[in-house]
Amino acid sequence: MLRVTVLGSGSRGNAVLIDGSDGSVLVDAGFGLRALRRRLQMAGRHPEEIEALVLTHEHLDHASGAAAASARWGWPVHASADTLAALASSEGGAPARSQAFTPAGPTVIGGFQLEHGGVPHDAADCRALVFTDTRSGARVGVVLDAGHVPDGLPAMLSRLDLLVLESNHDADMLAHGPYPWMLKRRISGGSGHLSNVAAAALAAGCVHRGLQGVMLAHLSETNNTPAMALACMRDGLRRAGWCRDAIWASPQREPHAPVTAAGATAPVTAAQLSLF
Ligand SMILES: [Zn+2]
Ligand SMILES: [Zn+2]
Repeated sequence: MLRVTVLGSGSRGNAVLIDGSDGSVLVDAGFGLRALRRRLQMAGRHPEEIEALVLTHEHLDHASGAAAASARWGWPVHASADTLAALASSEGGAPARSQAFTPAGPTVIGGFQLEHGGVPHDAADCRALVFTDTRSGARVGVVLDAGHVPDGLPAMLSRLDLLVLESNHDADMLAHGPYPWMLKRRISGGSGHLSNVAAAALAAGCVHRGLQGVMLAHLSETNNTPAMALACMRDGLRRAGWCRDAIWASPQREPHAPVTAAGATAPVTAAQLSLF
């Protein structure tokens, strides 16, 4: 079994809960403790159910809650050595428990085999992540904050069941929007964020019979709309021969309903959140 719950995604915080057959891991903790706990509760979950926190990179919208969450809930924090070093010198300090990714070969975390690969972004080190459920073999890829698609990334994202992918901005909205010129250049440059078109091209390269769902993430609230991001992705995937109605846009303000992939042939379901 494989289930992905985006607890929130965007420039004001990111956290993605991944449940497998033998455990649960959280990717990124870009919210404070109270917000993290509240978002987990909205999804009917508890911090104690999470075995480990895995970070893509050290930027605040991905790691601002990492050290506090590690101290409060005992989560070991897994990240690249450069990301951990950047965290240690940040205001939040080093997590109470941390482990650097092994440079060669996959790391085993919470019932998942984790592969990671560097992506260009203006951080100390930003990683794309692929989690393979060791029991079922189901795979989910998580790509957040990538300035462009490096050569090795499409191969790393092969045979995915689910993909969580940044679709940050519409290039025209960014170009003609209110941001200052320097910020526009930072976002659209090779070390910034993926446009809708770039995200759709990357996802199209991931198309295979077993791909069951695509969650769009890190949408800009100023330079994008969910409708535009979804339309661009749908168009790109259709042209690649993938016609499932299984593309969702992750909101910033609240968790998205969980998306499950039971295996290579089972349908994806977006279950209702249990709000309480
Ligand atoms: Zn970010
Ligand atoms: Zn970032």
